[in-house]
Amino acid sequence: MQTLVENFNFVRQQVSKAAEEAGRDPSTVRLLAVSKTFPADDVKEVFSAGQTCFGENRVQELSEKAKTLSDKIEWHLIGHLQQNKVRAALEFSDWIHAVDTPELMARIQTIAAELDVHPKLLLEVNISGEESKFGLTPDQALELAKSLPPSPQAPLVGLMTMAPFEAPEAELHRIFGGLRALRDRIAAETGMALPELSMGMSGDYKIAIAEGATIVRIGTAIFGHRG
Ligand SMILES: *Cc1c(COP(=O)(O)O)cnc(C)c1O
Repeated sequence: MQTLVENFNFVRQQVSKAAEEAGRDPSTVRLLAVSKTFPADDVKEVFSAGQTCFGENRVQELSEKAKTLSDKIEWHLIGHLQQNKVRAALEFSDWIHAVDTPELMARIQTIAAELDVHPKLLLEVNISGEESKFGLTPDQALELAKSLPPSPQAPLVGLMTMAPFEAPEAELHRIFGGLRALRDRIAAETGMALPELSMGMSGDYKIAIAEGATIVRIGTAIFGHRG
């Protein structure tokens, strides 16, 4: 049995190695440890081993962990966010990865101003085109970005996508490369920098890194299988 810290160190090395193999500086790829369903003690252990960014997909679980753990942890909300949970989400989330409607974007920006917090926001885009409940189409993402007033309060910093589970390698390259190309296009048409590409999970992060991921969201490979 590998310990949690051994798993974490292995993944950390693999992420660096994948960056080097892609001719990239490893410091440009952020490892986000996805701790959903695992107890706060597990987060604490991985935090003690040097990890500071953790991802959760539910607001309530994120808040519960954030309340009991070090305030040096940077929390990323990676799951779908409902309008009525924005206020609660902004209490502890430093990043929100899955903004997927103009209404949600507007609400986050309004409430961020009220609370005077500065979350970083990413648009979730459905590049694969598979039937999926969430995510903007590439055209919708472009339109939304174009319509946004500059917001130093809650800046749009990039794009996020999820690839279908067990997609073939060529398809993964198409999806992740597609997100990068879309980011380049939106950046060119809006003048926004959009440096962040949140893409890649336990099964496909090496391909995502080869295609330019700046944040890989890794759960299972660090914490084990979710029950
Ligand atoms: C759970 C989750 C992950 C992590 O997936 P693993 O396959 O366990 O690495 C990444 N992104 C999102 C949005 C998730 O919900």
